[in-house]
Amino acid sequence: MNAHTLLNPRSAKSNKTLSSDSLVHPISGVTPFTTIDFPNRLAAVFYAQGCPWRCRYCFNSHLWPLQEGKFDFDSDEIQKFLSLRQGFLDGIVFSGGEPTLHPQLASWMQRVKEMGYEVGLHTSGMFPERLEEVLPLCDWVGMDLKAPFDHYERITQVERSGESACKSVSMIVKSGVDYEFRTTVHPLLLSEEDLLQMGRELSSLGAECFVLQEFRRSGCNDDELCNERLPALFISRSVHEALGHLFKTFFLRHE
Ligand code: SF4
Repeated sequence: MNAHTLLNPRSAKSNKTLSSDSLVHPISGVTPFTTIDFPNRLAAVFYAQGCPWRCRYCFNSHLWPLQEGKFDFDSDEIQKFLSLRQGFLDGIVFSGGEPTLHPQLASWMQRVKEMGYEVGLHTSGMFPERLEEVLPLCDWVGMDLKAPFDHYERITQVERSGESACKSVSMIVKSGVDYEFRTTVHPLLLSEEDLLQMGRELSSLGAECFVLQEFRRSGCNDDELCNERLPALFISRSVHEALGHLFKTFFLRHE
């Protein structure tokens, strides 16, 4: 879900001063209803501000900076949103940006669970320590896998980012929480050999679910990626078959 489509009812209050006892939520927007961001659940999505990685295909780059005091929701606003939807939505997905950037994530999730919602998490796995803390509160995790672990920097532009991603994959697989690992495919960034290597790495860590997602232009600010003519089939049949053999669940997600 692209955060450009967010409902952001309180952005006009962006300069408000929160009282010292208000719980600040660096959430830049909410999608109030989705059927595609949390498998088999009717859900809302909360988009957290801030991400230290710089993936060229990112469609939420407006969420990269942490803009303190801007677009925050306070605890009353969040509470009201959640109260109004109890019984109508199954779950709340924490997305971003990168939600595990925030020390408050566990307390946000706890509050949501106490109100009877299931909890979903979208993450790139860059903060394994925080992921470890919040995994027991999650009912489902969707983790973006960027590249073969040794080549992560090619996508994220951050040195050694593959190391934290590898730890996070392992942690998710062992946690018993439902998950999906997914990769955005653009031919200028990942070759078919890269995809096969990623599949092998993921499978060797015990993962059983892998999804390849078609690159989408909407929200992407990289002209070179957007102007590239994309092949009709974004992976060949042979690679599709080879990856299909590695996982219990493997499929392609088109835009
Ligand atoms: S990790 Fe996600 S939010 Fe951060 S730059 Fe990459 S795609 Fe964008």
